[in-house]
Amino acid sequence: MTQLELDIFYTPMPDRIVRLRELAYNLWWSWHPEAQELYRQIDPDLWELVYHNPVVFLREVREQRLDQAAGNPTYLQQFDAVLAQFDAYMQLMPTLSPDSRVIAYFSAEFGLHESLPIYSGGLGILAGDHVKTASDMQVPLVAMGFLYPQGYFRQQLDHNGMQIAAYQKIPLVNLPVLPARTPAGKEVVINVELAGRLIYAKIYRIQVGRTPLFLMDTDIHPNNKRDRELSARLYVGNQELRLAQEMMLGIGGVRALRNLGINPAVWHMNEGHAAFLGLELLRELAAQKVPLEQAMQQIRASTVFTTHTPAHAAADAFAPELMKQFFWRYWPQLNMGPDEFMNLACKELNLEPTFSMTALALNLSNRCNGVSKLHGHVARGLWQWMYPGKRRDEVPISFITNGVHSISWLAPELRQIYNAYLVPEWDKQINTPEIWQGVYDIPNDVLWSVRRRLRQHLIAFVRNRERQRWQRLGHTPDYWPVLHEDALTVGFARRFASYKRATLILRDLDRLKALLTDPGRPVQIIFAGKAQPADDIGKHLIQKIYQLSQQPEIAGRIVFLEEYDIAIGREMVRGVDIWLNTPRRPFEASGTSGQKASLNGIPNLSVLDGWWAEAYNGQNGWAIGGEQQFDDQEEQDWHDAQLLYNILEQEVVPLFYDQRDAAGVPGQWIDICKEAIVTIAPQFSSQRMLTDYLEQSYDPIITGNA
Ligand SMILES: *Cc1c(COP(=O)(O)O)cnc(C)c1O
Repeated sequence: MTQLELDIFYTPMPDRIVRLRELAYNLWWSWHPEAQELYRQIDPDLWELVYHNPVVFLREVREQRLDQAAGNPTYLQQFDAVLAQFDAYMQLMPTLSPDSRVIAYFSAEFGLHESLPIYSGGLGILAGDHVKTASDMQVPLVAMGFLYPQGYFRQQLDHNGMQIAAYQKIPLVNLPVLPARTPAGKEVVINVELAGRLIYAKIYRIQVGRTPLFLMDTDIHPNNKRDRELSARLYVGNQELRLAQEMMLGIGGVRALRNLGINPAVWHMNEGHAAFLGLELLRELAAQKVPLEQAMQQIRASTVFTTHTPAHAAADAFAPELMKQFFWRYWPQLNMGPDEFMNLACKELNLEPTFSMTALALNLSNRCNGVSKLHGHVARGLWQWMYPGKRRDEVPISFITNGVHSISWLAPELRQIYNAYLVPEWDKQINTPEIWQGVYDIPNDVLWSVRRRLRQHLIAFVRNRERQRWQRLGHTPDYWPVLHEDALTVGFARRFASYKRATLILRDLDRLKALLTDPGRPVQIIFAGKAQPADDIGKHLIQKIYQLSQQPEIAGRIVFLEEYDIAIGREMVRGVDIWLNTPRRPFEASGTSGQKASLNGIPNLSVLDGWWAEAYNGQNGWAIGGEQQFDDQEEQDWHDAQLLYNILEQEVVPLFYDQRDAAGVPGQWIDICKEAIVTIAPQFSSQRMLTDYLEQSYDPIITGNA
């Protein structure tokens, strides 16, 4: 869009600060709180009202407020400093040519900021963090995904705690997106044939620091009404729609990049959703008359596949009939017959043959990885059948443990402390373990007072959200306020998938109530999370927690926050005292929310699953149970719940409350907080993760040592 077009949408702006518009169109601001401040300070109420969306903010803001800012020397000083920082950052753009170095990263969802709701959970947040990190590390990466105009659903709870899912169409002009353009300046529309008809998608671009994120939108002419809705929502239940989305992502995504003049050397499929990209590469080679076997070799040598699913049932798979309906016209273009095609990915699941997206991706890539050490092992077992004659440990699936984009999740108050006690420029080398030793030098009372302030900040945030909810429901609860500012606060926030066992801590209500209502040493719990709209079990778990939170004895001590998203996640991983995770081992492939908490000095209390199985060292948090696995789920849940209560009663609560010095600082508790930061912040950062991908996957492909 040209400046002229932009003017149509915006409040007139004094020239002196007109670059606020440019800044709004680069998500660099999303991990630079000082850049967000430039908007917030102009009108703090409006900033909250537009949910931290600079694009909408600049359209809604009153002219007079902008004039005031442009005439305020203190503001202008901050403005100049942030813009200088932004310019310095953007000067170091990695070039996207030669193509021989470019990495294309495909994902069905990207979680970058709460104002861009094109993510549902951990997978999307991971992809968002991957892209931000590529930008920070100047890796020549381009990302490809979907622009879901209705995004993931918004969650509300009714009087009974029943989850209500609402979809809202987000106007494109509210998002920091611009049409993607070819080197010659043309907009890009691609098409893919789906079950006999052509579906068109327009390609948009979002700038994430130095990294472009391309997003497809099918809500365009000449698609018919149904096809226009194809990309409307994330993770639809309908298999046919889902298959159509994945064909658009994989096949359409490759076509989009070619149209944009980008010819990547590396193709990274983040989860099986993106696996059709390999088919499209195969089709391209077939069109160039490359023999099938050679084409397969070539594709395998240039693709990377990351699997995130530790169970067959959770992996994407389609019925052969459906595959036939959508792909029969594609087979000849691949030089393949139906059987050959199905063999690329078919397996028997409960005696039903299905076309597995994970199997397809494994078949189309030499470089496959799980997302934690334990998950690598689990994945090798799960997919061993595809490699006849190989032992489990020979199955070619390695692991690269997930990490988080530290600066996005770190509380600014703690960042200041780290600035004071760690080496200069520590944030440029987050993955270096040595720099974190400086954390031991932070005086206990300094760290404790920040942790208290962050808890109080979170509680204020929760009360505000609760107040808004009660207003909406037109009802005043007979308890108020919720939560206690000095009480030990447990956090649990994640998707309400049943394997995550959100209600494990409710297993023995008497023991739980004793913990919550101990007058001298009270415990309180904040829950948040969405269940998939079609997941009745997940919705029931939410309702159970909600209803318990309304019982007179417990009211105000357990809160279920609705509308879990990046904003709530960010507040919670900064503000609670302990981070609870109770998955049914080994179904948590990695998990990342606990990494975010640790970075903020919050110890984990978690089942030894996913990343925690390799991070826990006996001093940096607590492990619920060991590796013991019961055949009976009920028995396992009961056993794990008992261990959880034991740890809370015998270790967590006494350390938090009883071991205080004269100034009220719990020294041994703070020791654990520090240990969590020092051992987890470097190793589970996305800088470490992306470095692993570069060393193990991307670079060998780029240098031809695949
Ligand atoms: C980090 C994060 C997740 C992932 O949480 P897990 O506990 O790893 O499943 C999901 N949603 C949001 C909003 C997050 O920030």
